[in-house]
Amino acid sequence: MNCISVAIDGPAGAGKSSISRTVAKQMGFIYIDTGAMYRSVALYAIDKGIDTREEKNKVIECLDDIKIEIKYTDSGQRILLNGVDVSEEIRQEKVSAGASDVAVIPQVRERLMDMQRKMAKSANVIMDGRDICSYVLPNAQVKIFLTASSEARAMRRYQELLEKGIECDFETIKNDMEARDKNDSSRAVSPLKKADDAVLVDTTELDFEQSVEKIKELIKNAL
Ligand code: C5P
Repeated sequence: MNCISVAIDGPAGAGKSSISRTVAKQMGFIYIDTGAMYRSVALYAIDKGIDTREEKNKVIECLDDIKIEIKYTDSGQRILLNGVDVSEEIRQEKVSAGASDVAVIPQVRERLMDMQRKMAKSANVIMDGRDICSYVLPNAQVKIFLTASSEARAMRRYQELLEKGIECDFETIKNDMEARDKNDSSRAVSPLKKADDAVLVDTTELDFEQSVEKIKELIKNAL
C-alpha cells in the first residue's frame, strides 16, 4: 500500500495537535502526536527519579524498558506507556520540560524516529512534531510549518489551563514556552526549524476553524 503522509512541524502552542487531530478526523487520516512519545520517555525517567537534564546516560539506559503504544478509542487517541494510560499525566509542565531535555539525546531521537517511520508505512497519517518534515518523513507529500507569535501561543495555553480550572500565571507560561522554544531550536540534533520545502502557516491572526480550513486546503491542493 502506498501511504500518504502529512508532516506538520512547529513550536509549542501553535495549535499543531488540536488542528492536526481535527483535520485527521475530517479527512480520514490517522493522527500521530510525536510530542507525546517524547513526553512518555520523559515521564518514565522522571518517575524513576532520573534528572532528565543532567543524567542523559541513565535516560539512554531506560530506552529498552520503555514500550510506547498509541491506542485509538471512541474518546480519542490514548498513549500507553508500558501498558498504562498516561495521556493526562504527560501533559504536566514538569513533563513538558523533561520532554525537551530527553529530545536532545540522539539515541532517544533515533529510537522514536524508527517507531514513527514504521507507523507512517502502515497508514495514511498526519504526524506532528519538530523534525517531521526534515528528518522523520522527508518524502511526505505535504509539509507544513505551523507557527504563531509567542504571545498568541502563550495566551492559548493560558486559556486552555484556565478552562480546565488549573491556576496559572501568563508570564510564567510565556517564559517557559520561550525557554522550551530556545532549547528545541538550538539543540545540535534535529533542531526545530522550518524545512526549506515546508509551507509556512502563521495562525496568530487565525481562529481554530480558519486554521483547520487552511491546513485542509493545503492537503487537498497537494494530493
Ligand atoms: O509537541 P509537544 O509540546 O508535546 O512536544 C514536547 C517536546 O518534545 C518538545 O518541546 C520537543 O522538545 C520534543 N519533540 C521533539 N521532536 C518531536 C516532537 C517533540 O523534539 N518530533
